[in-house]
Amino acid sequence: MGEDLSVLLKNLNLKVTPKRLAILDILDAEMRYLGPDEVWQRMKARFKSIGLPTVYRNLEELANGGVLIKIIHPDRKLYYYLCRNTDHHHHFICISCKKVEDLFFCGASEIEREVKNNLKGHVISHLMQVYGLCEDCAATKTIST
Ligand SMILES: [Zn+2]
Ligand SMILES: [Zn+2]
Ligand SMILES: [Zn+2]
Repeated sequence: MGEDLSVLLKNLNLKVTPKRLAILDILDAEMRYLGPDEVWQRMKARFKSIGLPTVYRNLEELANGGVLIKIIHPDRKLYYYLCRNTDHHHHFICISCKKVEDLFFCGASEIEREVKNNLKGHVISHLMQVYGLCEDCAATKTIST
């Protein structure tokens, strides 16, 4: 472990610290998004006296640096997810099992055209997260209803 995660940080000009590496390692091992408290629970196994504020701060720094994806759940809670795919894409977020899948569809060019034509504005960036039920969860839902 560790080695390619340090490269990930270095590529983004972020300082490599043991805590940052541990957070990335924890999220890398999950195929789902975690809340700060869940990351904290796992961090306590590695850093005895670590506090929740430290975990929060590191998560924020990593998200601002572009390593972690911040997921604002429909329940308004904040979660974090590590995606290693650097091509422009969006995420399909399962609100039931917390799985995240890459979505390589982007409607940005159409939105840009709309903004230009109708609002005379110019788009600089966009954020899009799609929420729903993944294949497995959708199947269970259909069976149970
Ligand atoms: Zn699911
Ligand atoms: Zn992704
Ligand atoms: Zn896009």
